[in-house]
Amino acid sequence: MTQRPGPNSVSAHVDNGEDVPDSGTSGASVSRRLTEEEFDRYSRQMIVPGVGKDGQLRLINSRVLIIGAGGLGCPAAQYIAGAGVGTIGIVDGDVVEVSNLHRQVGHAASRIGMKKVDSLITHLRGLNTLPTYVPYTFHINPQNAADIISRYDLVMDCTDNPATRYLISDICVLLCKPLVSAASVQKSGQLIVLNCPPTPQGRLDRQYAPCYRCCFKKPPPPSSMLSCGEAGIMGPVVGMMGVAQAGEAIKILISALHIPSQDHSIPLERNLAQPTLLVYTYELENAVGPYSFRALKMAGRKKNCFACGENSTLTLEGIQSGTPNYEQFCSLPSPNFTLPPDERITASAYHGARNRGEIPNHLLLDTREKEHFSFGSIDGAVNVPFGKLLTKAAAIKREGGAASDILPPVEESDVAEDTPIFVVCRRGLDSQEAVEKLKELGVNNGGKRRIVDIVGGMKAWKDEVDPAFPWV
Ligand SMILES: [Zn+2]
Repeated sequence: MTQRPGPNSVSAHVDNGEDVPDSGTSGASVSRRLTEEEFDRYSRQMIVPGVGKDGQLRLINSRVLIIGAGGLGCPAAQYIAGAGVGTIGIVDGDVVEVSNLHRQVGHAASRIGMKKVDSLITHLRGLNTLPTYVPYTFHINPQNAADIISRYDLVMDCTDNPATRYLISDICVLLCKPLVSAASVQKSGQLIVLNCPPTPQGRLDRQYAPCYRCCFKKPPPPSSMLSCGEAGIMGPVVGMMGVAQAGEAIKILISALHIPSQDHSIPLERNLAQPTLLVYTYELENAVGPYSFRALKMAGRKKNCFACGENSTLTLEGIQSGTPNYEQFCSLPSPNFTLPPDERITASAYHGARNRGEIPNHLLLDTREKEHFSFGSIDGAVNVPFGKLLTKAAAIKREGGAASDILPPVEESDVAEDTPIFVVCRRGLDSQEAVEKLKELGVNNGGKRRIVDIVGGMKAWKDEVDPAFPWV
């Protein structure tokens, strides 16, 4: 097995994934001729100023690792393969599901159930048979990351998991690999190039090569850590970020900026620019446009960075043996409440009590987003999205006002001050916080009114009461 030891090579062995061909040149050599097929295939790209034959040969001699074969990885891989990168490794442990297909354009309805990596490589071979494709049909983790990443010249982070993002960045610092990192959820996306030119840990003279931790010292807050499955995702938004990732990677490879030496064919100074975070926001609610692309200037490499700073103690051996603990670092803070039993009811108990007429008059608040609510709800539920409830509660606290203003407008005759309130959300967490908030505002009228959380939310309702409930 060919393995190019990095400055911190480890002996971890990956028992999946084929051998990675060794170009022997890290993309630097431009000595050979293009074949006729290469010439025909890449001619439109080669005539673009800045590419030329030398740039094309650098792409052909390069090895790129794409981690994640989903909404980012599919479009990124298409353009990386199309451009003629010689060796393309793809890492992902998931299989293709029908709900992936609106955005993960490298898969197909006929390949549902297939490993995403195999599905995407099938698609890429249809575009370009010349590259060598290397499948890794499992997830990257602290034990296998260094061995896989060490075989490539450049890494593209196309994952959707904060813990994996920190892991990939740390390994890229330790192995001196440039990293093109993107993320996208719901209606926004971001992109940043990190550790480029590749700069060893502790070296601070290249301040424009920050790592992920320099830019994002702490994991994002839980509210922004919703996965695409939870928060939803717009296909064109994530697609645009994946394509932009490919664009940045191709630029780095053509410029030979990925080569970790001083010997760049293009003077290094010309290629250094302040790191920039590209942020794209898609305004679905507003009229067409204005298009919202923003380029935020980011600070450079940080002297005290945990991974790349001068006193960093991060090592490949440490990562392999569990230090740091990425899952713990990025874990969602567990909600510090579970309401007392008399403020909670199971979905089936609530359903039974309703059927027996034990709670004839009550308010049922559904705190899911209105899009989720629109697919179906329990009879009589009123939609008060959780975010709006929190905003309203904060305004009442700040500016005063009747606590009952937080409740939706209902017929006066239906609601007395002791009319109980039941709160349901998607999975049973927001609803508990909503119950706390309502009590805090005094909506419970000093204990005269019961405010009750439905345990497990609409997921539990589907599981326990109504299997036909549409779950999105
Ligand atoms: Zn750093």
